[in-house]
Amino acid sequence: MDAGHPITTDALPSAAEAAERVAPKAADDGGRITPMMEQYIEIKAANPDCLLFYRMGDFYELFFDDAEVASRALGIVLTKRGKHLGRDIPMCGVPIERADEYLHRLIALGHRVAVCEQLEDPAEAKKRGAKSVVRRDVIRLVTPGTLTEDSLLDARRNNYLLALARSRASSGDDRFALAWIDISTGEFRLTECDRSTLAAEMARIEPGEVIVSDALYADPEFAPNLRALAVTPLPRDVFDGATAERRLASFFAVATTAAFGAFSRLEITAAAAAVTYVERTQLGKRPPLSVPAREAAGATLAIDQATRGNLELIRTLAGERRGSLLAAIDRTVTAAGSRLLAQRLSAPLTDPAEITHRLDAVAAFIGASGGREDLRERLKAAPDLARALSRIVVGRGGPRDLAAIRDGIAAAAEIAARLAPLTETSRNLAQALAALRQPDTALAEELERALADELPAFRRDGGFVRQGYEGALDEVRALRDESRRVIAALQVRYAETTGIRSLKVRHNNVLGYFVDVTAQHGDKLMSAPLNATFIHRQTLAGQVRFTTTELGELEAKIASAAERALALELDIFDRLAAAVTAASAAIKLAAEALSAIDAAAALAHLAVERDYVRPEVDQSLAFAIAGGRHPVVEQMLAADAGPFIANDCDLSPAADAEAGRIWLITGPNMAGKSTFLRQNALIAVLAQMGSFVPARAAHIGVVDRLFSRVGAADDLARGRSTFMVEMVETAAILNQAGERALVILDEIGRGTATFDGLSIAWAAIEHLHESNRCRALFATHFHEMTALAAKLPRLHNATMRVKEWHGEVVFLHEVVPGAADRSYGIQVAKLAGLPASVIERAKVVLAQLEAEDRTFAAKKMIDDLPLFAAARPAAAPSVLQHDSALAGVIEALAALNPDEMSPRDALEALYALKARFAKLKK
Ligand code: ADP
Ligand code: MG
Repeated sequence: MDAGHPITTDALPSAAEAAERVAPKAADDGGRITPMMEQYIEIKAANPDCLLFYRMGDFYELFFDDAEVASRALGIVLTKRGKHLGRDIPMCGVPIERADEYLHRLIALGHRVAVCEQLEDPAEAKKRGAKSVVRRDVIRLVTPGTLTEDSLLDARRNNYLLALARSRASSGDDRFALAWIDISTGEFRLTECDRSTLAAEMARIEPGEVIVSDALYADPEFAPNLRALAVTPLPRDVFDGATAERRLASFFAVATTAAFGAFSRLEITAAAAAVTYVERTQLGKRPPLSVPAREAAGATLAIDQATRGNLELIRTLAGERRGSLLAAIDRTVTAAGSRLLAQRLSAPLTDPAEITHRLDAVAAFIGASGGREDLRERLKAAPDLARALSRIVVGRGGPRDLAAIRDGIAAAAEIAARLAPLTETSRNLAQALAALRQPDTALAEELERALADELPAFRRDGGFVRQGYEGALDEVRALRDESRRVIAALQVRYAETTGIRSLKVRHNNVLGYFVDVTAQHGDKLMSAPLNATFIHRQTLAGQVRFTTTELGELEAKIASAAERALALELDIFDRLAAAVTAASAAIKLAAEALSAIDAAAALAHLAVERDYVRPEVDQSLAFAIAGGRHPVVEQMLAADAGPFIANDCDLSPAADAEAGRIWLITGPNMAGKSTFLRQNALIAVLAQMGSFVPARAAHIGVVDRLFSRVGAADDLARGRSTFMVEMVETAAILNQAGERALVILDEIGRGTATFDGLSIAWAAIEHLHESNRCRALFATHFHEMTALAAKLPRLHNATMRVKEWHGEVVFLHEVVPGAADRSYGIQVAKLAGLPASVIERAKVVLAQLEAEDRTFAAKKMIDDLPLFAAARPAAAPSVLQHDSALAGVIEALAALNPDEMSPRDALEALYALKARFAKLKK
């Protein structure tokens, strides 16, 4: 219809019209069940764990409990319709135009939805007899892990369905296989692991939905692994190892899966479970999955959930993307590129050769700055090819998805031309170039010829085929448009004959075409002589609506022409979709190449913008960062002035040592300890994901496991006390870290009493040094621990430089060798604005406490290390305590500065000293 045409189509029926829509008259008063309710109950019984969206005309209706659940969850009106076994049937409905939005909310709340469609025209059903019911069936189950619609997905994140299979071992050393699929992009991966790395693997995949066997689901020991995830337990046949190979082969229509690679039996079981579930939820439609790609155990850097949270890789501790490492480094220009970048950041590699290939691609783009920006400009306009393709292949595509394929293929060809000069120095870019040339441009040309300029959202809307593409379609369209013109003329004529200038001819799905006048003119049309022409249909609050015989006849003509036109268009759509499906393998390769190019170019852009350097990554145990910066803090500081101070870090083994170093970092609060710790972990992550890094130079021997813990982090959600969490996490590190691990411990032991905490931190360092022998950074406020460096050869002290200036503390954020002498806690408190009286009082208390110096005791303890010396006699500590108490009193006395004390402070100090002396004498 032309823009500005007087006939309007109401997108949504009004509330009054909605109430008119046909609803199941479930049972007459005799209590018999209507045929329609019978159909409903049968379909619902086959999908008991889903909310059933039952299609009726322009609505999906929900009945019984489903209606109650949905009306509460969606805040929509609960009505009643008919009776079932003498009781009212609760009902609510969502209009199909808004079904996606409601689905999204239900899925987000953890519901599953079965979508039941009408499989024939109601007119067809009527031909079978007045009482026959329209054929309906479920065409799809919507679950959190099997979504394809853009409106249900986050464009910049993958949405994985994860199948988890376990094989029990009598030794207790169970094995697990993980198969994960993003059906919206076709990715399919597979790996096997043991109990110790399972949590890290799951944390990296971040599945939208996990499927497990009933047995695994019911195992209380396993339950913690599934906490906070959307889990779907499935009957054992889905996880049956005996039929797995056959099911997997049949999904891909091959005789055997041997050609895919060598998979373990357990991996095949998980992969088969995943595809079986996809088939069940898609009701037989097969999304264009890649054959499963197996990830060798240890191919990616293991990072457990706590470390991910702590380092704020993908999101901050508060759960936001803003402020995360991903947000700080993401310069991609396409959604697919952004997804790939997030994926790589979640799973950095461990093979130096592969990492080098990725770095080569980034380097190639850095070398060609003009070409890079030009290429990014072109990429920006490229559509999300992978997701459009998936929708088309599973039969949920729309005209705009076809257009995406058309534009994506064109973009691939153009980008290939720009990329060619850059591929000499990069294997990955050369591979991407080959992939970009895969799709047949003739397909894009065909789509170009077929599709109109303006495209509707849905196939059913019609009007997407270009005028002139198919003669037969053009003919029926002409017929339809002619009738519409007649109707437009009719409006003018009716307005003249009735004298009502505001009279309009409108259209909606309930009444079809109708004459619409405001309430004040209603009576005129309902009385002679006009009532001979105008037949009253509906009175609303402000309007009165009529039909006429003429309008009815025209409408029938239009309807049949429109129906024929739509049928022809749908045929054309199917033809085009089939051509796209046939080319799906090539299109998918090109889509992957586009995202890889975007990711590499974006990392190059970032490196240039923020002055990052190419890291050297190899099989050594080196960890030498010169002039390292924190990638996120650095960018945040840039906004509000003050440069970020770069710092070196060297954990490489000394020439004569075969294990890396541990740095023990002391320094006051706010000096930059935590920032320094994290920046080094982040630099390792960036290097191994194949990115340049914020440093002047970086040499990293690949890290296989990364651990990061912060003392005293609360985890109330999981119901464990702060300190318990800290200890559970520390235990995991001490039990698991090997010599290739990188361990970051930030103020461990803070969550308990001082002596407990110090002892635990102390023992943990000894264990890291002697047993784990890994590279580590350990920040602590227990200055006593710096004494350990004297005994542990690979332990080095470092501290944050601070300057005192007129009694204030100035943080230089500079890491230097050595130990901090004081905490400056009171200075920091003063900066924070504590009342002056509190600050003064704290100084006095501190002087007293410091007098009971613990350093002295700690120095003695060095000789006490179980690793180096036999235990001392039991009496020794009490002598030690007495000595130190005496020394403490003397020191406290020395620390007093009478010139600076108020009379009251002086008096109090005197009392305190006396009291301590009295204790000593006892
Ligand atoms: P600590 O762990 O020692 O208490 P943080 O690492 O939390 O200290 O740092 C405190 C603040 O100091 C940070 O929020 C940051 O703004 C600033 N900061 C830390 N390191 C640096 C640095 N190298 N250069 C500039 N500012 C820094
Ligand atoms: Mg800190």
